[in-house]
Amino acid sequence: MPSDSALRIVWIYPDLLSTYGDQGNALVLEHRAQRRGIETETIHVRSADPVPETGDVYLIGGGEDRPQILAAERLRRDGGLHRAIARGAAMLAVCAGYQIMGSTFGGEEGQPVDGIGLLDISSARGPARAVGELVAEVDAALGLPTLTGFENHMGVTRLGPGVRPLSKTVKGVGNGDGFEGCYAGHVIGTYLHGPALARNPALADLLLSWRVGDLAPLDDTRYEQLRQERLSTVLAS
Ligand code: GLN
Repeated sequence: MPSDSALRIVWIYPDLLSTYGDQGNALVLEHRAQRRGIETETIHVRSADPVPETGDVYLIGGGEDRPQILAAERLRRDGGLHRAIARGAAMLAVCAGYQIMGSTFGGEEGQPVDGIGLLDISSARGPARAVGELVAEVDAALGLPTLTGFENHMGVTRLGPGVRPLSKTVKGVGNGDGFEGCYAGHVIGTYLHGPALARNPALADLLLSWRVGDLAPLDDTRYEQLRQERLSTVLAS
């Protein structure tokens, strides 16, 4: 039984948005918290259920166009995620989940569909599917190493003045404007799959630190070696 002080990780709509192993983001957060002695509780919220307001880190993943539209409708009707973010929760939204956070996104015929308005972004269907490896240099204000992952999406995303780009695209398409992802407050949106937090442990630590403060360093030598091998291979291709 987790204690009241356990870090609450909320995985939103595994029944709708769970492509490309994005659920692994929850496992990475759990693992990196637990290695530091922080107790965790992970809540899987199916789309028929209300989104709890008292979570610490919310995660939402990628998905196909129809489930993406359903997820946006249900999140808007539910309102729990909005209340959680207003209370200061952190969030990582990936691909379809990222697009949903904005004002609008492209549906299965390219029609505009309402998002849930948690980020000042709007998405639409782009000229071609973006598929492949993504490499991006993170906004210096966040102090994170180069991001790596892969992308698979039709949508392109325009950022409004209420968000900052998460990173500058070095390889791949990302938002489609030379940048990849965005952030505002403690909410991060990205096109990175991988899962993103497995490929970028520093991003996992940023989300954790927003909830628990300074984190003890971990020995990541093995992961860092893999990251460097992958980065040099992708950048050379
Ligand atoms: N359906 C969205 C798009 O194609 C998101 C795809 C995804 O989540 N991989 O842009």
